Amino acid sequence: MHIGDSPEEAEFRATANAWLGQHASPRPSTQTSHYDDLSDHVRECREWQRTLHDHGWAGIAWPKVFGGCGGSPIESAIFNEEQARFAAATGAFAVAIGMAGPTLMAHGTTEQQRELLPAMLRGDHVWCQLFSEPGAGSDLASLATRAVRDGDEWVVTGQKVWTSLGQFADHAILLARTDPDVPKHRGITYFLLDMRSPGIDVRPLRQITGTAHFNEVFLTDVRIPHSNVVGEVGNGWKVAQTTLTSERAFIGGGGGAWSVDGLIALAQSNGAIHDLPTRQALMRAHSRAATLTYLGYRLRTAFSHKRMPGAEMFIMKLAYARHWAATVDTAMAVLGASGMLTDGEAKGWGQYHLSQFAIRLGGGTDEVQANIIGEQALGLPREPSIDRDTPWKDLVRS
Ligand SMILES: Cc1cc2nc3c(=O)[nH]c(=O)nc-3n(C[C@H](O)[C@H](O)[C@H](O)COP(=O)(O)OP(=O)(O)OC[C@H]3O[C@@H](n4cnc5c(N)ncnc54)[C@H](O)[C@@H]3O)c2cc1C
Repeated sequence: MHIGDSPEEAEFRATANAWLGQHASPRPSTQTSHYDDLSDHVRECREWQRTLHDHGWAGIAWPKVFGGCGGSPIESAIFNEEQARFAAATGAFAVAIGMAGPTLMAHGTTEQQRELLPAMLRGDHVWCQLFSEPGAGSDLASLATRAVRDGDEWVVTGQKVWTSLGQFADHAILLARTDPDVPKHRGITYFLLDMRSPGIDVRPLRQITGTAHFNEVFLTDVRIPHSNVVGEVGNGWKVAQTTLTSERAFIGGGGGAWSVDGLIALAQSNGAIHDLPTRQALMRAHSRAATLTYLGYRLRTAFSHKRMPGAEMFIMKLAYARHWAATVDTAMAVLGASGMLTDGEAKGWGQYHLSQFAIRLGGGTDEVQANIIGEQALGLPREPSIDRDTPWKDLVRS
């Protein structure tokens, strides 16, 4: 494992940092980023993505043919690490650039790639992910939204839930059942959906944080052209694996988002640093952050040697979620009673505290991540399953 940058990487980091310094403000040392109105966040994300694009920093590791820079995953990771030091809004492009883009590069048709990938990098379109349903979250393959072929179109009816930023989305990636007569993993097809199509009803859900980050989405006789199928009809589960793997890497890869410098600065500023149990909790937070950083180095080393990473690839998301939960608990202890306030310094930390549930569930729950680590990293036996060979239509569902 090499920890430091090579001379070329150090030069790239310095160039990226200098450019970021000219175009973005430094990230505040304390945690204050919270949007009362999410449309402000989405607007800032669009503006920042456009700025990245116009200056040649969008899609660093994407091939040039898709509008990217043709750089390496290492360069992309370095840029993300540096970008995390600045107040750059990126979240609204998580589905487009973090999930739909890699999926289209791997499975899309030439027309789909040509039309949609450069537009993602320009920040033209916000995308959402229409996968989860009321009866299909961890067990996503049980999904019940139906798509029926009608000539050159598919007619889709069903309900999705947890759709992050669906109220702002221009496009969606959608999983729907096209063959109920085969076992659940086999009868699913992966679609691209224009969110302005008739028959789509997006209903925001207000969360514990006060914002409506995600939505219920009702689809009633929504028509999708056959040319919007990604991969083969009935093969959507395989295509979705690219999306889900990219999603976990995106959430766990946070570009140094696990830094506890802000928390330590907070404890120094309000005197909590002198309290012994708090010092120990800060030490543990620092150790977790350092562990994540070194896991990230292992990922980078694998990429720079052009080989697939090992267990660290599976561990990152779970480790990041656990770190987040423990760190925001420490932040509340550092803030003391003022942690209950909803303005000033406490506001940002309070929001982060309440958001821990989102990190621990979204992109696969902690328990499901542990199952993945058990099966794919440790080689333990698969979970017992009684429904893998039963036609979906014969399954008992709620
Ligand atoms: C902030 C946030 C944003 C999200 N955004 C999107 C989005 O944009 N698009 C989208 O499609 N989905 C999205 N999701 C949905 C997310 O993928 C699901 O919440 C997740 O897969 C869990 O599904 P569920 O909520 O239905 O819980 P369930 O699957 O019902 O799980 C309930 C509980 O049972 C446990 N459990 C379930 N199965 C097992 C098992 N086999 N072994 C051990 N324990 C198990 C789970 O860990 C959990 O604690 C989002 C979720 C969150 C929190």
